[in-house]
Amino acid sequence: MTLAADRIIVPGAGTETPREPVRFGPDPDPEMTTDTSDPETQTPGTDAEVAVVGGGAVGTLTALSLARRDADVTLFEAGEIAGGASGSAAGICYDAFADPVDAEIAAEAISTLRDRDAITDLPYVWFAREGDEQSAEAVREAVPRMQDNDRAVALVDPSELGARWPGLRTDDLAVAAVARNAGVVDTGAFTRETAQFAVSAGAEVRTGTRARLDGEGRVNGDAYDAVVVAAGAHTGRLLDGAGFPLAVEAYRVQAYLSESTPLSDRLPALYDATEGYYARPSDRRLLVGDGTVPEPQDPTDWKRSADGWFRGDCATYLETAVGETLEERRSWAGLCTATPDGDPLVGERAPGVYVATGFQGHGFMRAPAVAERLAEQVLGGDGVDAYDPTRFDGDESFDIVEGMSLE
Ligand SMILES: Cc1cc2nc3c(=O)[nH]c(=O)nc-3n(C[C@H](O)[C@H](O)[C@H](O)COP(=O)(O)OP(=O)(O)OC[C@H]3O[C@@H](n4cnc5c(N)ncnc54)[C@H](O)[C@@H]3O)c2cc1C
Repeated sequence: MTLAADRIIVPGAGTETPREPVRFGPDPDPEMTTDTSDPETQTPGTDAEVAVVGGGAVGTLTALSLARRDADVTLFEAGEIAGGASGSAAGICYDAFADPVDAEIAAEAISTLRDRDAITDLPYVWFAREGDEQSAEAVREAVPRMQDNDRAVALVDPSELGARWPGLRTDDLAVAAVARNAGVVDTGAFTRETAQFAVSAGAEVRTGTRARLDGEGRVNGDAYDAVVVAAGAHTGRLLDGAGFPLAVEAYRVQAYLSESTPLSDRLPALYDATEGYYARPSDRRLLVGDGTVPEPQDPTDWKRSADGWFRGDCATYLETAVGETLEERRSWAGLCTATPDGDPLVGERAPGVYVATGFQGHGFMRAPAVAERLAEQVLGGDGVDAYDPTRFDGDESFDIVEGMSLE
């Protein structure tokens, strides 16, 4: 994954001083603005003044969708656009969900990523190794459910998998499955481009501007018709501070990027359910994760570098997966968010106060569709019932479950 994309916003990371709204240059894609006059896209409540908190994938996409529906949008980002999880994600996307709502959302998201020419198609393969009956059974059980959701998913013979992807060691695989509607995205570049499109569609983007929410739903003292808090790992605290507790916890995950290797041309994106690792080719290198630390994490005080144990385990894991130990180029940590049932919290938490968080490490791949549904809801449409944040009181205590683990 490339993090060094063009800087389109003058950043003020960490400053508390509000900046002048930043307006970007000319619309890079004229088509992005043409649908604002389409009566089909008009919903009740357009012209509403909406504050969006958080310049990650979810916040920028929501701002874009709202602005394209003629809402008057101000996006607040405490640091830089894509400075949170959206700038450090692995960018693996697929629609292979056993749950019908997740499958529909993810398929819609992939379709948007394809329309934006942002996704590189790459099958997603997941498997269990011999001796791990529990994971093998979970793979076998999930595939028909995904197929019931009309997903292009199939069980695949491990030897066929090895023939198609010769970089992958398949000799001890017991069961494997492949999802064809899948690919990889440069999540940071995508998010920055989305912020640009949002500005072209009329939104104001204020970077270096930390938002504070009060009990009346005001942002930094100003009233809006609606507020959308998509502040990633900070969302729970922001809402809690305003008196609207949320059942969400931040936790730390990690990623490891190898030095370049010819193996990157011979591998799909993959999840090894037995070993608990994912991997994907990334610019001639291999990106490996996820090093979940399943403990609640203070989002204002956490370690951004990867742990020694994780870096060592990745080297060992690569030996298992591809038969070679590859040198580390770099590694890092990031924050994800967990909920009691593993489903996100997306929707209205209090009158006029909307949230989007709790994506369990699967937020980017669902963000385009989640943002679209959320924008519709803010402007008077229906939300996603299964993601309704009010299904919890907000004071629940729960164990953090690794997002990738098989149900
Ligand atoms: C290492 C790693 C690998 C991952 N891999 C994948 C993957 O392969 N596929 C996938 O789908 N997902 C993946 N994820 C998860 C994915 O990155 C997230 O679910 C998704 O990016 C969340 O986007 P977001 O917009 O909700 O949050 P974020 O991207 O975290 O954005 C939140 C933003 O809010 C800002 N903010 C916080 N507080 C305030 C405030 N008070 N005022 C203003 N701004 C504020 C932050 O600065 C931040 O920029 C991964 C995550 C990590 C860390």
